[in-house]
Amino acid sequence: MKRKLALALICSLFASQAWAVGSHWEYEGEYGPTKWASMEPNFKTCGIGKRQSPINIETRDAEKGGLRPIVFSYIPGPAEILNNGHTIQINLPNSGSARFDGLEYKLVQFHFHTPSEEKIDSMASHMVVHLVHKAGDNKLAVVGVLFKLGKENAALKPIFDNLPPKETMTRPLNVFNPADLIPADPIYYGYTGSLTTPPCSEDVKWHVMKKPIEISYAQLAAFKKLYKMNARPIQPLNGRRVQVLQP
Ligand SMILES: [Zn+2]
Repeated sequence: MKRKLALALICSLFASQAWAVGSHWEYEGEYGPTKWASMEPNFKTCGIGKRQSPINIETRDAEKGGLRPIVFSYIPGPAEILNNGHTIQINLPNSGSARFDGLEYKLVQFHFHTPSEEKIDSMASHMVVHLVHKAGDNKLAVVGVLFKLGKENAALKPIFDNLPPKETMTRPLNVFNPADLIPADPIYYGYTGSLTTPPCSEDVKWHVMKKPIEISYAQLAAFKKLYKMNARPIQPLNGRRVQVLQP
């Protein structure tokens, strides 16, 4: 309780400088998703935006024929594991890029949510990884890969065995290959949405891979020890089209 009060005080002192001290938004309670829009002037889009994420993907409504395969050009590179107070985020200074609809975006970070924020036919998965890419004009494109429970994920072992327990803590990783997080099956659902965290900025290109990858129960439990629930609720489609890459 003390921590919350202190945070609220710091946040109100710095309210005019969004992000100056990290915002105190949370996933539940008085700083939960329904309050985000009123917490900071630049969080307004979280409430008034009409193209917000995450969404529920109704597979039978997904339109075929309009999407091109994603071309992944990821490379192994150094990484930094960060506990940012909302999730575990892996920052990637030099891990290659991906091409979405003919445009090149640099991979900059990935992070996790549990349960998955996106739902497919109203079903959430245990967890999702969001790989965040940035284009030259700062436009964002995200790839979401869902997790199902199964074998230990060997690629994620160096991360999940080494989660920084406290907010703002980091741990270095000599090398990580983000290609290990991409399922072999290229089919994905595509739509236009937003960041799922404040400031909820729109015009983000979303690509949700159809096939999940596996993590073990112990790996999921290690993450949940730090973040029991960090998923924003489903947002209305407001007439947006969801497309699917034709098999
Ligand atoms: Zn995310």
